[in-house]
Amino acid sequence: MQKGKINVQTENIFPIIKKFLYSDHEIFLRELVSNAVDATQKRLTLAKLGEIPAVDENTAIEVIINSEDKTLTIRDRGIGMTEEEVNKYINQIAFSGATEFLDKYQGEDAKTAIIGHFGLGFYSAFMVAKQVDINSWSQREESTPVQWNCDGSPEYNLGETSKDDRGTDIVLHIADDSEEFLEQARIEGILNKYCKFMPVEIILGTRTIQEDDPKGEEDENGNIKKVDVTVPNVINKTQPLWGRQPKNLKDEDYKEFYKDLYPMNFEDPLFHIHLNVDFPFNLTGILYFPKLKKEMELRRDKIHLYSNQVFITDNVENIVPDFLTLLHGVIDSPDIPLNVSRSYLQEDANVKKISGHISKKVSDKLGSMFKKDREGFQSQWDDLRIFIEYGMLTDEKFLDRAKKFLLFKDTQGDCRTYDELIAEVGETQKDKNGKIILPYTNDISGQHVFIAPAIDRGYKVLVMEGALASHMVQKLEEAYPDVQFKRVDSEVIDTLIEKEEESTSALNEKQEEQIKPVIEGAFPGDSYKVKFVAMSPTAAPLTITRSEFMRRMKEQQAVGGGGFQMFGALPDSYDVSVNANHPLVQKLLSEKDEAQRSKMAKRAGDLARLSQGLLEGEELTSFISNGYAELA
Ligand code: ADP
Repeated sequence: MQKGKINVQTENIFPIIKKFLYSDHEIFLRELVSNAVDATQKRLTLAKLGEIPAVDENTAIEVIINSEDKTLTIRDRGIGMTEEEVNKYINQIAFSGATEFLDKYQGEDAKTAIIGHFGLGFYSAFMVAKQVDINSWSQREESTPVQWNCDGSPEYNLGETSKDDRGTDIVLHIADDSEEFLEQARIEGILNKYCKFMPVEIILGTRTIQEDDPKGEEDENGNIKKVDVTVPNVINKTQPLWGRQPKNLKDEDYKEFYKDLYPMNFEDPLFHIHLNVDFPFNLTGILYFPKLKKEMELRRDKIHLYSNQVFITDNVENIVPDFLTLLHGVIDSPDIPLNVSRSYLQEDANVKKISGHISKKVSDKLGSMFKKDREGFQSQWDDLRIFIEYGMLTDEKFLDRAKKFLLFKDTQGDCRTYDELIAEVGETQKDKNGKIILPYTNDISGQHVFIAPAIDRGYKVLVMEGALASHMVQKLEEAYPDVQFKRVDSEVIDTLIEKEEESTSALNEKQEEQIKPVIEGAFPGDSYKVKFVAMSPTAAPLTITRSEFMRRMKEQQAVGGGGFQMFGALPDSYDVSVNANHPLVQKLLSEKDEAQRSKMAKRAGDLARLSQGLLEGEELTSFISNGYAELA
């Protein structure tokens, strides 16, 4: 047995390894199983090259829990190591790798700095073990088995041993504070998380007590003894769907894989995109469009990032464009640098290319769905809309491409592309300045009083719902400079789209001046501005609106944009449009009793406010009780 000292400046690196990455100790298993996979693949490669004997037996990797000895063993039938190789790869290279890693990241916030803490390698075993043994027998014919062990101090032992099979056993003597890693369920959970799609079969022996086993021995009473059986439990699928050829796969395969990925998701995805790039970077993956019902349900931890079939993280922020984090699925790329900080990732040229590529693939897919099956596309529009809008708001290139399949849906449920919409409404909805006005609603039932007259006029009222609506409107006006959006309740119908011809008013200026203070007296405070509009006699006498401009300013202030903060909260401001042609206005004019006139105006004002939900509290209570009093 040779004794040695790992060449190290720090007296003892292992306490540091242990303390570091405290919350993420479980990744030791990913590192060790990855090494076992690499060793197995190296063996297969060398066998093919004829450098070592051909492989004719099963090369599965076994993870073995021994709760009596308190050891966890990772056993592979891979290439193995000779004594010389252990010296080189474990004592020198692996060690320097671990030291370098720690030097680099000790200062940084470990959790956010490094994706999945990739690269700590073999020595991460010391996060959970008080002693680690390597028992290895190289596949090279002339070699003999070798043992290395180390108890967490910089000293190690290295020497000959005996071993039944070629390959490597990494035996972890689990530390007292890490005994969770001797629990079957815990280990199975970790393997399922990180190793589920690794390319070499991984087996965890699951111990179960089987009763009434027909092969079991009988006890003295003739009952069959309970026997302790270890059932081999295959953890992984060595050929995950994303690495296979799309042409060989059916829709069902994709759906099944979705269920593998998200066993708790009961709904099928809308559709999928299979990514497969090998130049100028390597990327495979499958992205699923989930059914996004309510915006609030969005979860951003659904895309799993793999590197050569090893799970790295489900936080793909800064790797894929923000709006794509709404998708589900898997991305596998060895070209995403894994041991760099998150903020650096955004600047990485490869990551930028990858992210741009994915965005393009997604818009291509949407475009082809629209082209091939417009009806189907339209029927899924409500699910796709949030995603497409989010993409258009955050990714200029996506916005450009999305123009081809963006749909404008109106209150009747009809969907039109921008060109189709303009062809249809271009004339009727053009205002006197040549702008095409697009009325929209974000609340079909609440804004019904405004929608109905707009439709009567032959206008199309678009539905723009959800938290993104006001941003979307702004964005679309930038993208399409010929149009202007106006929410239906921002003006009375007669001024919603201003036309050249003025309709004739029944009131002259003097009469307007006479009535204005009466109406003003019916509204409290100074947030209501009274104006006269010549409307149809059958339209409402008073209508309260909030101008598109003021409302957008308020909304932007509410979400913290637009730079209005310095002015303090914007006051509420409403327009009261008086229908100059309504009989009520004539009645107010001819009413000589001032008290009676104010009462009438107040009543009309309250009704107008009521219809907009602006009559509240005590005012609402007394309005209602006065109404009942009149009936009684
Ligand atoms: P990395 O895997 O990133 O190279 P590690 O510290 O995990 O770094 O391992 C260092 C080296 O030790 C590996 O490159 C490999 O040569 C060798 N090694 C580790 N585990 C095994 C194993 N199970 N079988 C054969 N060689 C191994």
